Amino acid sequence: MIKNIPANEQTEEGAFGYNDYNRQRIISLVRNTALLLATPEEVTQWQSLGFVPEVLLESKNELDLYRRALYGPALKLDPIYHTYEQIVDRAGALQAQHPELMTRIQIGGTTQFHRPIYAYRLSNDAAKVQDRPAVLFDGCHHADEIMGAEIVLALMEKLMAGYGTDAEVTRWLDTLEIYLVPVVNVDGHNIVTSGHDPRWRKNARDVNHDGVTGVYPEGVDVNRGYSFNWALGGSNDPEGPSYRGAHPFSEAENRAMRNLADQRQLLLSISYHSQGEVIYYPWIWGNLAAPDDKVIKNLANDVAAHITRMDGEGTYTIAPGGPSSQSYPWFYGRRGVIDMIIETGKGTHIFSAADVPGIIGENLKGIAALLEHTAGPGLSVRVTDAVTGRPLDAEVWIPRIDNETVDRRRSDVRFGRARRLLVPGNYYLVISREGYATTVLPAQQVNATGWTALAVALQPTGQ
Ligand SMILES: [Zn+2]
Repeated sequence: MIKNIPANEQTEEGAFGYNDYNRQRIISLVRNTALLLATPEEVTQWQSLGFVPEVLLESKNELDLYRRALYGPALKLDPIYHTYEQIVDRAGALQAQHPELMTRIQIGGTTQFHRPIYAYRLSNDAAKVQDRPAVLFDGCHHADEIMGAEIVLALMEKLMAGYGTDAEVTRWLDTLEIYLVPVVNVDGHNIVTSGHDPRWRKNARDVNHDGVTGVYPEGVDVNRGYSFNWALGGSNDPEGPSYRGAHPFSEAENRAMRNLADQRQLLLSISYHSQGEVIYYPWIWGNLAAPDDKVIKNLANDVAAHITRMDGEGTYTIAPGGPSSQSYPWFYGRRGVIDMIIETGKGTHIFSAADVPGIIGENLKGIAALLEHTAGPGLSVRVTDAVTGRPLDAEVWIPRIDNETVDRRRSDVRFGRARRLLVPGNYYLVISREGYATTVLPAQQVNATGWTALAVALQPTGQ
């Protein structure tokens, strides 16, 4: 009888609700097929009841059986999935083929093993940062949610192959900057893809300093380490599956993402997780929605409506997430980026090879839908110094929308640009910076489509 899997060895977020199934036994439930751990007697019993069980692997080592079963019917990681080394090599090959279209940026190194964490900038002139809407796609904050890395890599392939031949891809790269971080939690991803442990969720931090990594309950949950309501998210128990670390941004993986956000003002981003076929957006806080709730919900709904579920019945749904410690509250609340989590696929964290192309293909449709929103509607404000003409980093805020839950939006120091997606209407805008006279624009019209361009020259006060 298989009943000795310790609680801390079980997956934290199973493919199913805690109460619905015995998670020591049912590894995944995808469509109408269950992957189970069972004794020979149970198999015989099910046969007598009319089920047709197929024995994939027999072993007396229960823990080994459990871990391997998490890879799905192949019982080892299918080669359709990439290791980080393979991802970096493939990206390097694509960059060598299209040097003008892609630039690699090291945004940090991992907490435990100091492996490089890479972002890739893609545009028609990727060597330069340009004054365009910038969009980020990242994968694998959670180590075993490896589909995210595959989706981001597939997007990279699509963009590199399609430039100059596919009209949509060409338009995106001619008008946007697209940033890709295929794997945020590189050490954790390696624990999963190397076959060491398919259930690994956190990073590889050696929390108790015993010199051993990759053995539960070590590690920090990289998606609980951001500094927005940090103390309210995850757990302060170092052995917990959602341990948030010692302090906000204690983990190098989170600092890497902050570096990227500091280098480049982003308009939109998607962080890929698995599973659930749901999009979490910022936010529900108590009973209050985010200041930009209308814009955010409209966007999330549109993306969700373009991603068909694995069972073919309908599309992904949306739900507001809580405002704590995860990526999307920080990106939205601190940086003004409309960031969402997409929980791809359903039934397990690691999908069988046959399901991978379908999940990727559907999520690429979601990406296409998201990118259409980079065309507005909204306000695109350029702030300069009235005397020197230099671009200025200034507060660009809308008092009737913004409240104390979010940091005020700022123009980008490099271009003086602040872009803000809005629903059509008239907006009262305040532009301010220390040492300059505050400028108020009472009624700026946002039309049904497109960006309303505004130029604001701030007068120095001479102080
Ligand atoms: Zn996750």
